[in-house]
Amino acid sequence: MADTARSLIFCLMVSGLLGCAQSKPAGANSGAQTASATPAAVAENATAGREALPPDTAPPPHIDAAKAMDYARQVVSFGPRYINSPGHKKTEQFLRAHLKGDDLEEDAFTTSTPAGNLPMVNFIARFPGSQNGIVVLAGHYDTLYGRNDFVGANDAASDTGLLLEIADYLRDQKKRPGYSIWLVWLDGEEAIKQWSDSDSVYGARHLAAKWQKDGTAKNIKGFLLADMIGDKDLDIDRDQNSTPWLEDLVGQAATRLGYQSHFFQRLNAVEDDHLPFARIGVPVADLIDFSYGYNNVFWHSPQDTLDKLSPQSLGIVGDVMLETARLLPAHK
Ligand SMILES: [Zn+2]
Repeated sequence: MADTARSLIFCLMVSGLLGCAQSKPAGANSGAQTASATPAAVAENATAGREALPPDTAPPPHIDAAKAMDYARQVVSFGPRYINSPGHKKTEQFLRAHLKGDDLEEDAFTTSTPAGNLPMVNFIARFPGSQNGIVVLAGHYDTLYGRNDFVGANDAASDTGLLLEIADYLRDQKKRPGYSIWLVWLDGEEAIKQWSDSDSVYGARHLAAKWQKDGTAKNIKGFLLADMIGDKDLDIDRDQNSTPWLEDLVGQAATRLGYQSHFFQRLNAVEDDHLPFARIGVPVADLIDFSYGYNNVFWHSPQDTLDKLSPQSLGIVGDVMLETARLLPAHK
C-alpha cells in the first residue's frame, strides 16, 4: 500500500481503537466492533455463527511454522523484489521450483502503469478437495517499486513463505475433505508511483477480471488474504472493507485454535489485494497486522527486516486460514 493512503487509514484505525474500547471487550464475537451494526444484527450474527459450527472432530490444522519462516528467509535473501528487478526474477524461479509438481498456473500479463507497460505474473496452485467450491488463500510477492533499500521481510516475504509452506501441507493431504484450496501469489500489489485505485493491486485487478469473465468467481466461497502477518507482536486487525460474516468466521477459527488474543483488538479499513475480488461479489477477508513496530514505523521502511518476524506468527495465521477454510462448507 502507498504511504498516503495507509497513513490516512492508520488515523482511522486509531479512532477505531478508541471506539472499540468503549464497546465490547476485544475478542468478543462477531460484528460488535462495527459501528454500523445494530445490537439486534450483532446478536443474530453471533447466533448464526455458532449454529453453523460443525462438531469439532477433525484434528486442528498445524503447519510447520519453522519451515514457513525458512521460506521467508530465503525470499528475503533475494533482495528487493520489485517488478523487473533481479530479486523479482529469482522469486518467480523460486516459486516455480517449489510448485513444479503441482497444478500450477502462471497468469502472466503486461499492464499499463505510470512507469510504462510492465510485465507481471500471478502464480496459482490448485489443491483439490472433495466438495464443489473454491477457497482462495492469497498474498503478494512484489516489494516497493524501485526501492533498493527495502527487502520487505514482513511486506511481503512473510506471506510468500507462508503460502509455500501451506502448499507443502496441502500436498501431503491426500483426499482432503472440503472445498478445493487455491493458493495465489499475486504480483504488483504495491503502487508504481503513488497509491490510487488505478496505481495499486495490479495482479489482483487482473485476476479478478479474469475470474469474473471465465465464471470462476461464482464458485469461490471465500477469499482469504494474508499481508504483513509475520510481526512478532501479532495483532490481526478486523477490517471493515472485508465481508463481515467471513471476518466472523476467521474470528471463530482463531478462537477454536486458542489464538483469539491475536485477532481483532483493532478496527481498521484496509485497501489491499482483496478489494478487486470484493467488487465482483466474492466474500473476502484481509488478515493484516497494520501495526508493525511502534506507530507502524517499520512499514515500508528499510527496517522491515527478518529480525522483526517470528515463526509463531506465521504459524498462527496459516493455521487460522486453514481452519477458516475447513469451517466454510458448514457455513450457511
Ligand atoms: Zn506494502
